[in-house]
Amino acid sequence: MSLGNLFKQLWPFVKPYRTLVIATLILTAIGSFAAQVNAIILRYTVDHLNDIVSKNQGLQAGLSLLVTISIILLAKEIVNSFIQFGQKFYGEKLRIYVSRDLAQQVVEKVLSYRMAFYTSAENESGKLQTRIDRGIESLTRLVQNFFIDILPLFANSIVALALMFNANKYVGLVGLCIVPIYFYISQRQAKKLGGFRRRMRSYRENKSSGIISLIESVTVIKSFVKEKEESEKQNALQLEMTNNQMQTRKLSFIFDGAKNFVEQIGIVIIIILTAYFVLNGSMTVGAIMFHILLFNNVTAPIRQLHRIYDEVNDAMIYSEGFFDIMNAGDETERSGNFIPGAIKGKYELRNVSFTYPNGTPALHNVNATIEAGKITALVGLSGAGKSTLINLLDKFYEPTTGEIFLDGIDLRDYNTKELRKEVGLVLQKNHIFKGSIAENIAYGKTHATHAEIEEAAQKANLHEQVLLLPDQYASDARLLSGGQQQRVAIARLFLKDPSVIFLDEPTASLDAIATEQIKHSLDAIKRSRTVVIISHSISQIIDADKIVVLEKGKVVEQGTHEIVYDKGGAYKKIFDAMAHSLNIEKIARTLNE
Ligand code: ADP
Repeated sequence: MSLGNLFKQLWPFVKPYRTLVIATLILTAIGSFAAQVNAIILRYTVDHLNDIVSKNQGLQAGLSLLVTISIILLAKEIVNSFIQFGQKFYGEKLRIYVSRDLAQQVVEKVLSYRMAFYTSAENESGKLQTRIDRGIESLTRLVQNFFIDILPLFANSIVALALMFNANKYVGLVGLCIVPIYFYISQRQAKKLGGFRRRMRSYRENKSSGIISLIESVTVIKSFVKEKEESEKQNALQLEMTNNQMQTRKLSFIFDGAKNFVEQIGIVIIIILTAYFVLNGSMTVGAIMFHILLFNNVTAPIRQLHRIYDEVNDAMIYSEGFFDIMNAGDETERSGNFIPGAIKGKYELRNVSFTYPNGTPALHNVNATIEAGKITALVGLSGAGKSTLINLLDKFYEPTTGEIFLDGIDLRDYNTKELRKEVGLVLQKNHIFKGSIAENIAYGKTHATHAEIEEAAQKANLHEQVLLLPDQYASDARLLSGGQQQRVAIARLFLKDPSVIFLDEPTASLDAIATEQIKHSLDAIKRSRTVVIISHSISQIIDADKIVVLEKGKVVEQGTHEIVYDKGGAYKKIFDAMAHSLNIEKIARTLNE
């Protein structure tokens, strides 16, 4: 990303704070003039002292001079502190506000994207987080650099240079000539050090993650007696890091030395030049101090140039990833205009095929019907496409080809948010948010009363167990057992009260007892709704009114349990295998004894 492009992208975030920018700029301009006062006063003082001494006027004459300059310098310092405070404060305010807006906007953007965005490999949550953090950090640093660091320094530098030219064009030229040399050295320094700095950062990351993985794997390390090898690996990393560190320091010292040398040469030339003008009578002695101080003001900002150069470079690198996320406009979730009233829940899939964004084909020419108000079980081996089908019915993805109709209307035409209000989803593991049980249940309905929350928990067979906890509904929900967490998810759905429910292996991660306990909650939530369930539990499959059998992304059989079973095909095979694995005969014998 080029610097121009970067500013163009950043501008919309800075624009709302135009007045802050203008205020900062005005203060910067005033500050840059105030910064030259010392040089002017010094020249004035030296010249007058010189005058007084040469006229042998003594202390009395000098006193009024000292009083005058003290008052001027004091007044200037007072004004300067206000300017500096204002300038830093407004600059910082701008930086904080811009950073807040960037962070908020990226959250809003990311939440508006469709499922394919999150599942694509390049948007793994860890990578997204890093890109967003780095992007915001370097962008805000850029704003800060520009308004708080660079601009005032450069404004100082330019005013000082102008004053030098005003005093004498040769002196001005010396000041001006130093600038490109400085620029060149700083640029080389930034280029050379940039690589080292980046390597240093990755060493640090590796090193800290090294400790984490060591601790995580400490049981294995100890049981294989690999302590020595592991410590040697760390040592190698440490050595490389130390080398890198030494190189960085060495280079820094060399470049800093070079810059210092150039600066001193500049000062010497200015002294000689000014002394020449003093001697030939065209300048007073005070000019020497005046020029040296001005020259100092010219070089001060460019001494920091390599740091600024580096940070701008960083901003250009990191902001690219950040703005890619911000501008992924075609990833926005699609939505139609149709706002459903009550949904009955009859889904018809016509020639639906679907391929995941990464190119994995998951469904092929699927034709199936989900009856309204009935329970449909999706059966098939793992990887057959059952969850994918639910993803399509929930509009998380759109079919690659073919259509899905809900109550006779194309799913694409539905307003996505309104549609999802009528649809509930229980997964194998449902996310429990940080917070109390009550808050977690109320996620299904904001502003639910406590009575409503309790009622939902009762329906989900959770209420009694919550009452046993020390803090009851205020207890931390993440401390609940797996089965209880599933019931929190079901209670959420009771509050939401959707007409269609998708259950994707709701008991798969639970043990037998928890599965048995949760069965009643599931039975309750299924009542009088359209239900699509994926399950490996034979009892949940038998309960279904209709079975849809999937094999390698195709629907191979569909109908009632009896009809499909009698076909003697894929379903029979799966069903028999499930039944045999239960070892029903032995179970029956045990139960009869
Ligand atoms: P099932 O639910 O029947 O076990 P899935 O619907 O999860 O099967 O998977 C069907 C196919 O789609 C599999 O080949 C799986 O690897 C692939 N798949 C599932 N999710 C994704 C995804 N997010 N990205 C790419 N491929 C996926």
